[in-house]
Amino acid sequence: MTHFTGKVAVVTGAGSGIGRALSVELARRGAKLAICDVDTVGLAETEALVKAEGADVKADHLDVSQRELVLAYADGVAAHYGKVNLVFNNAGIAFTGNIEEMSFKDIDRVMDVDFWGVVSGTKAFLPHLVESGDGHIINISSIFGLFSVPTQGAYNAAKFAVRGFTEALRMEMILNKRPVKVTCVHPGGIKTNIAKKQEQVEGVDHDQLAKQFDKLARMSPAKAANIILKGVEKNKARVLIGADAWVLDKFVRLTGPRYARGVAAFSKRNGL
Ligand code: NAD
Repeated sequence: MTHFTGKVAVVTGAGSGIGRALSVELARRGAKLAICDVDTVGLAETEALVKAEGADVKADHLDVSQRELVLAYADGVAAHYGKVNLVFNNAGIAFTGNIEEMSFKDIDRVMDVDFWGVVSGTKAFLPHLVESGDGHIINISSIFGLFSVPTQGAYNAAKFAVRGFTEALRMEMILNKRPVKVTCVHPGGIKTNIAKKQEQVEGVDHDQLAKQFDKLARMSPAKAANIILKGVEKNKARVLIGADAWVLDKFVRLTGPRYARGVAAFSKRNGL
């Protein structure tokens, strides 16, 4: 028996990276999975990996930025399994560019997936999690939800917003004595496809960005998933992933608003 045995766990963005690793680790721990993604090829690969672990799995195409579809999806998962215990709002995209050069459309796209996707996933599943009597919402923010960096204005905004929303939800669940735990996750650099898949403003070299990301992102998605699940077991309010996340979190808290000078210099030095 593990903390997750027999529980129904939903993972958005399960077709790659952290979402895939979470799905596999949850399957190994005896959870029943509901996985979704816009990438049906990646999703099918994750489905096969989860099945190979012997877990029940329901795999669906879902764009988390489509609120009505997310609401219907939540009801579908609850009807399929009869309950929902864990929701990992993980789906996300990156976008690089200076705010002066980003279009409103660029910013909307990041907010629609990275912020509104998390809001829709939370709101859609919350009644089912309360009903289960044993619920847990895990929202994936980023270290970029703890401090800002140049060229990540939209992503920073979305990830700060996820943190604010998630921390308020945790307090409300406690104050209102709801049977739903809430955890906000802040990964540092994790070796996934996020930088390869990202878009950027004109004039920014995509391949160079992806190369720089690969240099800085050191941890495997499997290790990140294990750290997240340990945090879930312990009902942590905040889970930081990686030495970079721990060091930068401390640096930002120690230096206050002066952190920006150090971060800007680092970004310039590393061509970010
Ligand atoms: P990834 O690109 O490997 O996986 C993200 C998955 O989300 C992909 O399968 C993608 O198809 C899916 N997705 C994108 N838009 C979607 C949508 N509209 N609806 C449904 N699915 C969608 O990236 P990852 O690194 O595993 O990212 C997972 C989460 O972790 C994201 O929220 C990301 O912002 C966050 N994060 C990642 C890192 C990192 O270094 N990799 C650091 C901090 C935070």
